[in-house]
Amino acid sequence: MIRLDKYLADMGVGTRQEVKKLIRKGLVEIDGVRVLKPDEKVAKGLQTVSVDGIPIFYREYEYYLLNKPKGVVSATEDAKDRTVIDLIVSKRRKDLFPVGRLDKDTEGLLLITNDGAMAHRLLSPKKHVDKTYYAEVAGCATRETVQAFAEGVDIGSEGGEEWTLPARLEVLESGTTSRIRLTIQEGKYHQVKRMFRAVGMEVLYLKRESMGSLVLDEAMQPGEYRELTEKELELLQ
Ligand code: URA
Repeated sequence: MIRLDKYLADMGVGTRQEVKKLIRKGLVEIDGVRVLKPDEKVAKGLQTVSVDGIPIFYREYEYYLLNKPKGVVSATEDAKDRTVIDLIVSKRRKDLFPVGRLDKDTEGLLLITNDGAMAHRLLSPKKHVDKTYYAEVAGCATRETVQAFAEGVDIGSEGGEEWTLPARLEVLESGTTSRIRLTIQEGKYHQVKRMFRAVGMEVLYLKRESMGSLVLDEAMQPGEYRELTEKELELLQ
């Protein structure tokens, strides 16, 4: 059971104060019966709440697939930069967060949700969820680079060792700058950039293309987002 004013505020009908006014004005019904008390209890999913005759269905969780653009930070709040949550203009809930982080200058797939259990499943180091990145790097990616990444590289700093798990590197084009696709099964801080630095190369452009079963739509421009489909949700459970 949930309070009526919270039910409506959670579904983005308005702020807690705004929805209280709607209720007191007599615009809100539960199962067709007008209710005037904001603290009236509603059984989510079992009772029908309507505002001005329009049914408002309760959904516990929201899931968005965002193509994160450069220049936006993977956080819920930031004093100076726009956050990925600011980009989700159609959100109903206030408790959305990004599942993991992409650097400010990285583009690509980011899942935004308020489902903490799902985030945990995707981020837990024990689960080894694959993440695939497309990158352009300064330096010539060779068979030796493929081999080094397959064996694991040391991305530690200040004398400390930090070895990565085996990663799959596909060289799409090699030259003074190279184009590659890299699949890693971890999510260490700045991992892709540090892996290339470990073999003497610098990442110039980085985009995440997939995370587990979730794949970024090719047609989605940076900054665009959409809700997950039923099929995508099923595969993530
Ligand atoms: N690895 C990085 O170095 N940066 C990212 O944003 C993601 C993975």
